Amino acid sequence: MTDCVFCKIAQGEIPSGKAYEDDLVYAFHDIHPLRPTHILVIPKKHIASLAETTAADEPVLGRLLSVAQRLATENGSPEGFRAIINTGRIGGQEVPHLHLHIVGGATPVGPMLNKA
Ligand code: AMP
Ligand code: ZN
Repeated sequence: MTDCVFCKIAQGEIPSGKAYEDDLVYAFHDIHPLRPTHILVIPKKHIASLAETTAADEPVLGRLLSVAQRLATENGSPEGFRAIINTGRIGGQEVPHLHLHIVGGATPVGPMLNKA
């Protein structure tokens, strides 16, 4: 998709702190990290959100998850991490290209959601 920031990152047209790349996914460090480890894993092909996926996307969806453990371990979060996919308006998604957040570090990331 021509105007998508994450498509441009995956294609190397916008610089990023690359963490990993294979045939299906690209991973890079979040520009505003919320924890010491904060990596985004995206499909190389444009998919607007998790809500736009179909069964045909299962290979890339599986890959997004299967690289998470390795990326967390290699980037300062070997004892666990949290994987988050914000989806649509209700999910608080800001960038309309599917992305998996991997957040972690040396200390626990905290409660899953604010209770307030
Ligand atoms: P979300 O709210 O789930 O859509 O998260 C979007 C994330 O993308 C945020 O954590 C942003 O900090 C991050 N982000 C936006 N633009 C960039 C960029 N150019 N490079 C790295 N991370 C970005
Ligand atoms: Zn895109």
